[in-house]
Amino acid sequence: MLLQMAIGDAYGAGFEYAPPDFVLTHNKLSGYVQHPKHALKPGVYTDDTQMSIANAEVICSQNAPTRESLADAYVACFKRDQREGYAGGFYKFLCSIADGSELLARIKPDSNKSGGAMRALPFGIYPKLETVKELTTLQAAITHNTTDGINAAVAAALMSHYFLYGLGAKKDLGTFIEKHVPGDWSTPWNEKVNETGIASVRAAITAVIASKDMTDLLHRCVAFTGDVDTAAALAAGAAAACSEIADNTPEVLIKGLETGPYGYDFLVELDSKLAAKMKSLRN
Ligand SMILES: [Mg+2]
Repeated sequence: MLLQMAIGDAYGAGFEYAPPDFVLTHNKLSGYVQHPKHALKPGVYTDDTQMSIANAEVICSQNAPTRESLADAYVACFKRDQREGYAGGFYKFLCSIADGSELLARIKPDSNKSGGAMRALPFGIYPKLETVKELTTLQAAITHNTTDGINAAVAAALMSHYFLYGLGAKKDLGTFIEKHVPGDWSTPWNEKVNETGIASVRAAITAVIASKDMTDLLHRCVAFTGDVDTAAALAAGAAAACSEIADNTPEVLIKGLETGPYGYDFLVELDSKLAAKMKSLRN
């Protein structure tokens, strides 16, 4: 889940809000792309993956996730591996605080943007749908305590839950989510992805349903234009567990993903810890 998410995130990061003609020319899956304006290096993932790592580490720990442990993890993961790719305001905020209690004391959690949804996929590992909803809401409300921010996050967690637990065919993903989360999750998204959580999740659902393999999926997510690193991160992370999507991720993207202390090897290991946690929760 996290490895494919990081690949989607890093691939999409080269195209985030880039002009449509740039996307058309460079969205060829022949490698990570240098963003036309940002300095972010090709092959480096962004906030979507880093915050999902934070959630995954809390989920894999001994204790049940709490507001405090989740907030602590968001700050600690950022501090140990400070990286670009966060929204400017939130980046400055993270730089200005010391720990999770300061985050909880100072944040204004009134955003409907994609922050609560972009990090929600790991919560799909819980066997009970009610637990998925409850814990995803808890983590989203820390920064995005709005109806749309929370609904988008729960919809994202249900994407991974649906495939991890083999709940149906991928064509029915949107209608499954509509049964559990208010909103239109089954009408295909066909425009630029804006900054809201709902747009990113709808674009990701649309790409998963339409794609036959990972290359197709990454191409479709980026072709939407707009906030495509979040859409590609969510779509690829969820599709990793979908048996109807062949894993033909281009070798150049696997080999080109960052390899530092929190790069490829770290993600593979955390994915195996998440799989072990899921197994223990099912028993
Ligand atoms: Mg991002």
